[in-house]
Amino acid sequence: MKKIVAIIVLLTIVSCNETTKKKKESVKDKSELKIYNVSQAQLKFANQYKNDSEAIRNKIFIDSIFKPYQYFIEGYMGKEKDFTDWMNNQIIPNLDHYNKLAEKVNLSRIKSSFDEKANEIAAFTGLIPKGDWFFIYGPSWVDMGGFSDNKTMLVDLAHEQMNDLNTITSTFPHEFNHQIYGNTLNFDKKTPIINRIIDEGFAVYVSHKIHAGKKSIAEELNYTEEEYKVCEQNKDELISFIKDIYLKNDENLAEDFADRGVKLNEKFPGAIGYFIGLKIVEEYVKLNGPDSWKDIYFLKPAEVLEKSKVFEKIKLNQNKVLKGTILEKLAEEEFVIKNKDSLEFNLPFNLHSLDCGAPDCYTSTVFFKIKISDSLVFPKEFPFSFQESGCHVKDSTQIKSVFRKVEETNDFVNYYSKKRKSNLIIGRAGELYYILSSDSNNVKIQNLEKQFDHAEQENSKTEIYKNFIMNRNFLMSNAEN
Ligand SMILES: [Zn+2]
Repeated sequence: MKKIVAIIVLLTIVSCNETTKKKKESVKDKSELKIYNVSQAQLKFANQYKNDSEAIRNKIFIDSIFKPYQYFIEGYMGKEKDFTDWMNNQIIPNLDHYNKLAEKVNLSRIKSSFDEKANEIAAFTGLIPKGDWFFIYGPSWVDMGGFSDNKTMLVDLAHEQMNDLNTITSTFPHEFNHQIYGNTLNFDKKTPIINRIIDEGFAVYVSHKIHAGKKSIAEELNYTEEEYKVCEQNKDELISFIKDIYLKNDENLAEDFADRGVKLNEKFPGAIGYFIGLKIVEEYVKLNGPDSWKDIYFLKPAEVLEKSKVFEKIKLNQNKVLKGTILEKLAEEEFVIKNKDSLEFNLPFNLHSLDCGAPDCYTSTVFFKIKISDSLVFPKEFPFSFQESGCHVKDSTQIKSVFRKVEETNDFVNYYSKKRKSNLIIGRAGELYYILSSDSNNVKIQNLEKQFDHAEQENSKTEIYKNFIMNRNFLMSNAEN
């Protein structure tokens, strides 16, 4: 350790190449991946000069730390005075804490993991990460991150997330991927938004591959599992969000997509660009073959997006769910609202509408929601609420219950609610029935027609409600009168 510091003083900037020179195949021999150990210099000089005057200390801090690492320190923390203030007001008064931290997260151990991970990603991708790494005890504005030049990385060892060796080393592959992509491709500076989104998503993707399941995808994204779930459920909405903006030349917006503190809305986590980018990369790979992720290193981010065909796929999904089914008709009538991840049914049924002549007198409305993914699959069960209204109903409070699937054929799905003693039958060709029945076995799809005829006879104990849509012509003519 001392040797490295001595070299820093002599040469002003030094990389920590000594140990890796012995390894013949080391990436660091072939590349310019360098570690600049600012943190070590900080503690060394703080300990050595803590009892000297501020003037003496400042000269040392500026000459031996600030100047050698000026590009980096200015980029992260500010000017000379910002840095000396930081050293005098934060590091020196809390020196014990920082010394302990240095013992806990030992830099030589970080360095050996660093080399190991660099070799691993080089072997995995066939490409070598290049760039400079700075370790510092800073103001914890980031834990680990890079400058926009994609070559300068920093680890703020004072950040609470960086107080554990495993966390630090498991983040290396993500950052190394930036340092590969940043070198294999000249990013088009006019498209910062899509650049940032793909760059982050791709880093998450490759890191996840390298970790081979040892780190969950939510962890790779730095989201909670719950946050990741919400994103997955709303991925179409999230991808659609960038449709009209991804080619804009707007640096600030690009930053927002990677900022943990910026949220699209309360539902989603910050740094949402990571997720959107990941989904685009995944779709790209699905379409272009399992090894095609390696091509991305040489593709412009806008091209990756184009070749992923994500926007086309979303359109297709939306059509697939609604097309040619009763849902389309219901959606037209606003009885079904299509959300990104669910269909919301709001079905008014009117009793005996075919022959009673007063359909608006007595209405039962069934509300429920079905989750959708690529296609509509009717779930085993779903909660619903039921409300009666009309001339004979005094209390129109909602009743909540659950529909359980009794049977399903190519043409119909039959649900039964024990509490409501009723069946809900949805026909794929356009029929909807709500049938009161004392037992789940009473109403069967096979006998539906027979039961319907039977119910129309006055003395029948089965009551069948048909959705308004089926009686639309009747309603229309009624309304005209
Ligand atoms: Zn990143």
